Formats: sequence, C-alpha cells, structure tokens
Amino acid sequence: MSHKYVYLFSEGNKDMRELLGGKGANLAEMTLAGMPVPQGFTVSTEACTKYYDDGKVIVPEIENEIKEYLAKMEEICGKKFGDPKNPLLVSVRSGSRASMPGMMDTILNLGLNDVVVEGLAAFTGNARFAYDSYRRFVQMYSDVVMEMSKSEFEKLIDAMKEKKGVKMDTELDADDLKELVGQFKALYKGKMGSDFPTEPFDQLMGAVKAVFRSWDNPRANVYRRMNDIPYSWGTAVNVQAMVFGNSGDNSGTGVAFTRDPATGEKKLFGEYLINAQGEDVVAGIRTPSQISHLHDQMPAVYDEFAAIATRLENHYKDMQDMEFTIENGKLYMLQTRNGKRTAAAALQIAVDLVDEGMITEEEAVLRVDPKQLDALLHPQFDAKALKAAKPIGKALAASPGAACGKVVFTAEAAKEWHDKGEKVVLVRLETSPEDIEGMAVAQGILTVRGGMTSHAAVVARGMGTCCVSGCGEITINEEEKHFELGGQNFHEGDYISLDGTTGAIYGEAVPTVEAAISGNFDRFMGWADSYRTLKVRTNADNPKDAAQAVKYGAEGIGLCRTEHMFFEGERIKAIREMIVSKTAEGRATALAKILPYQQGDFEEMYRVLEGRPMTIRFLDPPLHEFVPTKEEDIKELADELKITVTELKNVIAGLHEFNPMMGHRGCRLAVTYPEIAAMQTTAVINAALTVNKEHPEYNIIPEIMIPLVGEIKELKFVKDIVTSTANKLIADAGIEMEYHVGTMIEIPRAALTADEIATEADFFSFGTNDLTQMTFGFSRDDAGKFLDSYYENKIYESDPFARLDQHGVGKLVEMATKLGRSARSDLKVGICGEHGGDPSSVEFCHKIGLNYVSCSPFRVPIARLAAAQAALNNK
Ligand code: ADP
Ligand code: MG
Ligand code: MG
Repeated sequence: MSHKYVYLFSEGNKDMRELLGGKGANLAEMTLAGMPVPQGFTVSTEACTKYYDDGKVIVPEIENEIKEYLAKMEEICGKKFGDPKNPLLVSVRSGSRASMPGMMDTILNLGLNDVVVEGLAAFTGNARFAYDSYRRFVQMYSDVVMEMSKSEFEKLIDAMKEKKGVKMDTELDADDLKELVGQFKALYKGKMGSDFPTEPFDQLMGAVKAVFRSWDNPRANVYRRMNDIPYSWGTAVNVQAMVFGNSGDNSGTGVAFTRDPATGEKKLFGEYLINAQGEDVVAGIRTPSQISHLHDQMPAVYDEFAAIATRLENHYKDMQDMEFTIENGKLYMLQTRNGKRTAAAALQIAVDLVDEGMITEEEAVLRVDPKQLDALLHPQFDAKALKAAKPIGKALAASPGAACGKVVFTAEAAKEWHDKGEKVVLVRLETSPEDIEGMAVAQGILTVRGGMTSHAAVVARGMGTCCVSGCGEITINEEEKHFELGGQNFHEGDYISLDGTTGAIYGEAVPTVEAAISGNFDRFMGWADSYRTLKVRTNADNPKDAAQAVKYGAEGIGLCRTEHMFFEGERIKAIREMIVSKTAEGRATALAKILPYQQGDFEEMYRVLEGRPMTIRFLDPPLHEFVPTKEEDIKELADELKITVTELKNVIAGLHEFNPMMGHRGCRLAVTYPEIAAMQTTAVINAALTVNKEHPEYNIIPEIMIPLVGEIKELKFVKDIVTSTANKLIADAGIEMEYHVGTMIEIPRAALTADEIATEADFFSFGTNDLTQMTFGFSRDDAGKFLDSYYENKIYESDPFARLDQHGVGKLVEMATKLGRSARSDLKVGICGEHGGDPSSVEFCHKIGLNYVSCSPFRVPIARLAAAQAALNNK
C-alpha cells in the first residue's frame, strides 16, 4: 500500500492540521458538521515536503493520486473537469499548519478554457459571469503560476474601462470581458513564449506546484521568521469546487468575525460585496458593506450565516474568522479559523470566554500570544497635544495605537529610513504582502483603499502596529511621492500622525505617550502568574526603567548595567581622568569622584525596587568607549585634563584593539585596575546599607555580578577585591548584611568549567548575547550583514540573537546549569540576554529549570505570560 498524500474533505477533521494544514483541517471539520462547504480534497503537507525533498518535482505517484481524487470529487459534485456541458471549476488554495494570511497564493476558477467558458456561459445563461471568471483565472494563473506582474493586467482592465467610459469592473459586459481575456492571453504568450495552457489537468498540476513553491517565496519566509514558523512544516494544497459570488446581484462574497477583532466586543463583525469574488473584499478595490446590512438585503442568508457563526464559535470555543460566498441566494462556507485580533481584543475575548463558561482560566492563559501583549504597552497620543491638534482627515480605525513619524511611500523607503534611525509612517494606496517588511518597521500605516479586513488592516493588527485604512479623500501619487489631504500637501519626510483607535489623521507631529493598561490586563496576568514557576526580572539601569518594569510585574532586576552610569556630565570627565592617569593613586583619586554619583544611583534604584532583588553588573565595556574620537573633542579633552594632545592621542592609541568585543573588557578591566571593582563595591554596599537603614523591611541583599569570566581564578581574583572591600564596609557600619557575588556565564569556557566556577559563585546569569556571539564566532554588530544570506539559503531560520539557539548555545546553558548545580545545589540561575523576553527562549529556560529570566521592561508581561504557558505546556 503506497503512502497516502491526498484526502477528501470528508476524510479529515480539525485535529489533522499538521497533515492537512489549518484551512484543510477546518474545511474537513465544517464538512463533518454538515455545513454547506463546496467539496474537494487536500494534498497534504507531506506532499509539499516531499516535493522539496525530491528536488522540486511532484512525483508520478502523487500526480496519479491527485487524478484519482479529482475523479472522486467529480462524482461528489456531479460535474466534470473540462466538460463544457457541466464544467467543474476549482479553486487551488494554500494552507499551512499555522495561518499565514495572504502569504501564499490562491487561484480561482481553474478548469476554464475557450471551450469550457462557452459551455459555462450557456449552462448558466450568464455570459458576463463566465467571462468575468475566465479573465480572473487567466490573470491569477499568470500571476501565481508564471509569476507575471499583476499590474500589466490591471492596466489592460483600466484601459478597457476608460474605453467604455465606466468606473467599476462590474460595469464591463460580457463582450468587454471576452475581449480582455484575448488581450490577457496575448500578453501571456508575449511574455512566456507559449500559449496559455488549455488542458485543465495541466492547469491543476501547475497550480499545485505553484502553491508548493509559494511556501518558499520571500514574503512567506519573512512572515515565518517573524512568527517562528519552521520551514520544515510545508503547506498543504486545497482543491475545492468553485462557488460563484460573481454570478449576479443575488450573489456575493464576504468575510466576518464572530467578535470584533479590534475590541473583542461580542457581535458579528464583517464585510461583504455583492457580485464579487473572494479576493475583491480583502483587496479593497471596491468598498464593501457592513455584514449587518446583509440582514436587510438577504435576511434568510444572513440568519443562516449568523447561526453557523455561532455554532462554529461554540465548537472551536474561540472567536472565528470566516469566509463565505453566496451563489444565487445560497450560502457556502469557504473557511473558518481562530481569528487574528488585537491584543486588547485578545484579552477581552479570553476574559469573556471564561466568564461565559466556555473555557477555563488555564485555557484562557494559553489563548493569548505573549508577543501580542507588546501592543498593549505601546504608545498613545499625549492627551494635551492631541487636544491642540486638529485632524485633517478621518478613515477606518483599522489597528489601534498612536503613530507619529515621517511620511514614506514605499516599504523599501520605510526600511531605509528606519535603518537610519527615523520614525516613519508608511502611506500607500493599498498594501500587499510584498510590503510586509516595511510595515513591520513603520510606526503606523495609512492606506487610501481598503476596509477593516484589508491586507493593511489585518497585517497591522497582527503586528500590533497602528493602522488607519481606506482614506478615500487622499489623492496620492506614489511614483512622485506626495499626497494631498484636507487641502494640505505632504511629501516624503513630512510629519504626520495617525490614531489607529479613532481613525483620525493629523498633518503634524503629535507626541505620543506610553500606553494605559485596561482592567482585563491585571486579571488576565493574575491568572498567568498563578501558573508560572519561572521568575521574571528586568534589565534596567535607571530608576525610571526600573519603576516601569515593576509596574509591568517585574520581580526584581536581573541585570543592572553600570557603564551607563559613567557617561553623564561630570562622571565622564572623572572616568577619562582615570583612564589617562598612570598610577593606581591617580586612578583612585579620579574614581573617588565617581563614587558618590554611582552610590546615589544605586540608592535610587533600591528605593524604587522596595526590597525586590537587584543584580548589579560591574563595568563591562572596553575603555576606548569612554574616550573621544573626533579631533576637536580630543583637543578639548586634552585641555581639560591639562595634558598635551599628543599625550592624549598616545593614551587613546594605546586603547585601540583589533577586536574590542574580545579585548580588554569585563572582569579583565578589574584584573588590571582593581580600583574600579573596589569603587563599585563601595557604591553598591554603601547604597544598600543606606537604604536598609531607611527601610529595614526591604532587607536588601546586594547581588554583585562579575562579567566575562572564563576562568575560576579570574573570578576569584575579582571576588577577593569585592569581599575584602565589602566586609570592611559592613563591619565599619556595624550592621549585619548579607551580600552575594556571582558571575555572568557568557564565555563558552565558563560554561564548560561551570562546576569549578560555581565553587566561587553564589549565582549564574547567562549573558546569552555574548554567549551567542562567542559560540557562533560572529559578532552581533556585524552579523546583520550576512545573516540574510543565511536565511535565504535556509542555513538559519531565525536570528540567533533574537531567538536562543537551543540546539547549540542552549546546550551550553543547560550543561552549565547542571554542572554549576552539581557543585552548589542552591545555585541560583537566570538569563539576562535579549532572549529573556522571547517566548520560545523563555519556554526553554523553564524546561531546563532556570530560576528566572530577565528582559527589558516592555517585555516583562510577555515573559510572564510565556513563562505561564511554558509551565502549563510542560506539566
Ligand atoms: P487566503 O489564505 O489568502 O485567505 P484563500 O485560499 O482563503 O486565501 O482564498 C482567497 C479567496 O478566494 C478567499 O477570499 C475565498 O473566499 C476565495 N475562494 C477560495 N476558494 C473558493 C471557492 N471554492 N469558491 C469561491 N471562492 C473561493
Ligand atoms: Mg490569498
Ligand atoms: Mg482565506
């Protein structure tokens, strides 16, 4: 018995999404539930994987199986592929395990040719419809399968409309469309050098192959990287009998959600278009009607749809995003899936579903994507500034939040400007999946066309990016890079602001302020915290960030970097004085000037933390970061330090390193200049003593962390400076105070010898930024230049600096944890690299038994939720 690669919809169910993809599994589930679904079959994700394994070919075995299932489908539908008398037409739809809206391709009306179209016209008595379907098919097939540009076809349509003096596609008649098909095919032949394929089965195999191929297209690859979807999953292909929303005024197509995807409000929410085919609604070419209007226009269809929507929501126990088509007054369901939603809606829905008794608190916690919480914490407009500002236009509030930035007109420009450190707002006629990278870096997105379910709206909501869509009042010229709105002209680089919550557009910069969190947030996060075992700390080195993080639920500071504390005003002078002085005494004198500042900083931090722990890392960067590079600055500094320019230049030259990241930094500084470690110890211990005296209830136990250790003796050397300084201070103060000295594990050698290191360390904190860089042997500042080629060639699927490389770096982390605890069973272990706020990395930390993760303040809620989900998923 050969392996099965093809499944009828009636053979599957919702639990088969790995094999059938989300779309296929849900089409099967709806079929199972007796809902009106046009029938068909799914070519499995295994067939896709096999296609790639076999060198991008579909082997005869699978081709034959498809043929076999096509025959079964013909029987079920009572129509025949390529039969002019009663033709079966199909859609060929992609669908992977995780939903990737708009990332891959769909072809509709497949099976048409010059003979079949005439048959279809005669059979339906509707020549206009037949030719409309045909021209759509030729267009989509050329675009998807042969990768011809869409715009050339659009130009022909526009020319035809102009010739006929009409505005809408729907105003073109059968003869116009027939003429267009001729033009399209000529265009095809001109470009491809061969006739448009007429044999339906050839068309089908070409389309299946194109869907497999689209799994590997650039926009799908970007989307997968952003959403941690493995390349190895592959996509399934659904071949489904067509139903026709474009067969007249008693037909139509639409999309709807069972709850408002922006707010979570429980009501049917969506849009539809009469006499249209699927993509028309999302493409935003015509402006659709609200779903509630269908109630008046086709009451019976509306009622049937509303009943199905309720059934689906109750069945999946989650908000559903559905696609439907009405053909001559009959309703068909084309898709259902758990709907994408804003973060605010996600919390509202999770909390409501619990209150409605549909799901448990535990299920609710698992429902919300941790990364989404980011959007809740994102900026809103400063209320005062907003009052003063006057909107110049208003459109659909497609994705909430506030954005303020400089206008750009292309995704490429958005990326370029963003890379230069500019905040941008992307303004487009409409967006398409090719724009995804530009959308990801924009503060906000403004489109001229498109409804709440347009590409821009859906994608922006998913990203948590502010979006205002469908602003028809705008006159835009994308090529010449300007637009007009409310009598004002805007060019590239001009400021605008968008309110994604109200849809208002401002022709000026309106300052934004941080987000305010709703009541659902605390309730929901409270549930999450009740399941979480991993602690969540934050990386913060000033009282403001620390306070922010505490507000977001941080349980302490996992990494307080001290180098920032050296840069401000007088301090940088003192550190420079230290750098140029040639004696230990000279250095000590200079450092003494910094001490009060640093101690004051720590005191403030301890006060904000109110007894929560804080790990303070000693000076880490190479000293050259503290000296000037520009000629005039060097001169000024030399004058200040009362030395000659040459002397200063010699000092600076002496600090030069070929590879500073692997140079004189971290604990190596303290080995050379023990005074630095002594000063920092004094600052930490005195700060803790002072604040403990003010607030005995805080019971602060200082945690001092020695960076960049690779050898136990090195740690011991620096630790001895710390303990001798600290012990004396504590004894002099006459107060009992415990303190801990630990180390960062960020050099592979430290991980390899972690059992030795642990004998001198009270705690470990994995500095996974450096550990990644040193394990891979490439620098995080340079990797960006070549990582793209690594993604393109599938060598890496994600940025190892953003998502922990569990296989390699993770192995070191796990091993070092075990080794460390073998030497010291109560060793406290955490992670403080960028990875501490990445959900998949947090899950890894949970699994290997770390005590805490530490991440930037805005990611604290993400880490809390990810930790809760890790605990629930690994019970
Ligand atoms: P996506 O995954 O990008 O949403 P789909 O496979 O859902 O792509 O298809 C795009 C559009 O084509 C949808 O709006 C859908 O309504 C329409 N469509 C797909 N299959 C059919 C069909 N069998 N009959 C009518 N319309 C269809
Ligand atoms: Mg699509
Ligand atoms: Mg769809």
